[in-house]
Amino acid sequence: MGLQQVSLNLNVRGLGKSATLAINERVAELKASGKEIYSFGLGQSPFPVPNCVVKALQKHAHEKDYLPVQGLPELCEAVADFHRREDGVNIQAENVMIGPGSKELMFLLQLAFYGDILIPAPCWVSYIPQAQIIGRKVTLIETSYENRWTLSPQALEEQCAAENDQDKPRLLILNYPSNPYGDGNSVEELMKIAEIARKYNIIVLSDEIYGQTNHQGKHVSIARFYPEGTIISAGLSKWCGAGGWRLGTFSFPANLKWLLNALVVVASETYTSVSAPIQYASIAAFQESEEITNYLRHSRRILDALGQWIVKQLTQANIRIHPVEGAFYIFPDFENYRAKLANLGISDNVDLCERILEETGVAALPGYAFGRPKNELNIRMAYVNFDGDKALKVSEQISWDQSLDEAFLEQNCPMVTTGIQKLIQWLEAL
Ligand code: GLU
Repeated sequence: MGLQQVSLNLNVRGLGKSATLAINERVAELKASGKEIYSFGLGQSPFPVPNCVVKALQKHAHEKDYLPVQGLPELCEAVADFHRREDGVNIQAENVMIGPGSKELMFLLQLAFYGDILIPAPCWVSYIPQAQIIGRKVTLIETSYENRWTLSPQALEEQCAAENDQDKPRLLILNYPSNPYGDGNSVEELMKIAEIARKYNIIVLSDEIYGQTNHQGKHVSIARFYPEGTIISAGLSKWCGAGGWRLGTFSFPANLKWLLNALVVVASETYTSVSAPIQYASIAAFQESEEITNYLRHSRRILDALGQWIVKQLTQANIRIHPVEGAFYIFPDFENYRAKLANLGISDNVDLCERILEETGVAALPGYAFGRPKNELNIRMAYVNFDGDKALKVSEQISWDQSLDEAFLEQNCPMVTTGIQKLIQWLEAL
């Protein structure tokens, strides 16, 4: 029989490469073959790593020693201080863990925590496969277009109340501003969710990796309302443009130290510790500085203008979409075009993405990859395909009381604006 396919773990069998990374590689291949591609696939920040952080990396390139598994103490202190300052949550440095991306920390958490995982869907592509690989039971909590895809506190309450064992260990993964829909619960809803989590002793993993990209700079952490049960997940990948640096952080409340300790044990037997130069350099990103404040202000202004412009164009074209408040994603729904799409033989979001890519060059991801049923007609688009360095420099020249208009977007984000127009033209020609 040879060594092919002798024994692949059942939990891994049948899984494909993560959708976000697969589309990124496919886009690169299509571009290399000479095709004009408008990439809305991988959600990678368009902005450069701020100069003060790059400088810090250069300065610390010689750091060669293994660092403590939990993280460099000075970095843990900077992260704790960051959450106290930005989120008003009293995090202590000894309760911060640094990982090679928050994705890996999430995997460790799902592995170390024994219990059910509750996830409102649509949700980021990796939560469900991670649970599947580890063999955890996932309960998807239903959301709806009408409810802006957000978790309804009532749905959470009903889900918990319906179980025989109401005290069973549960982990709720909440993510906002959301990947894939760029929005999140209101503060009032977060308070209600916190109350329910407290009532049922749910641990909340609050994935706030896009918190700093809230377009108005008004992110509110649920940890403010449920400090004792919330783990805040954050990192450098999104707001700091450093996805490839692979640095994520988990901030635990003091009474979940047992869980943090368990993650540290598993980390010590797997990746050991995060790259030393990257950890030293990251301190500069979490510390308050004029450069970072300015960088964030302009990144948010650009994302806000672009997000609003896209939502307006799609709404005018009768595509169902909600306003976005953060991150760089939209989750449009083509239900209004169902009959016309059916004439082309398209009746699900997987086929829809495939045909859009083939016929317009616009690369996006199907709602199915984000935990939605295949037969819905929603797709995720990341509006990041532009030169963020150039856009930041131009934005800095434009006075603060002037908004970034369509001309700015067409000049600085042409692949995004043209890609959106191509998509609309394709639909209108159906
Ligand atoms: N979070 C990004 C996305 O959803 C990409 C990074 C990843 O999936 O690892 O597109």
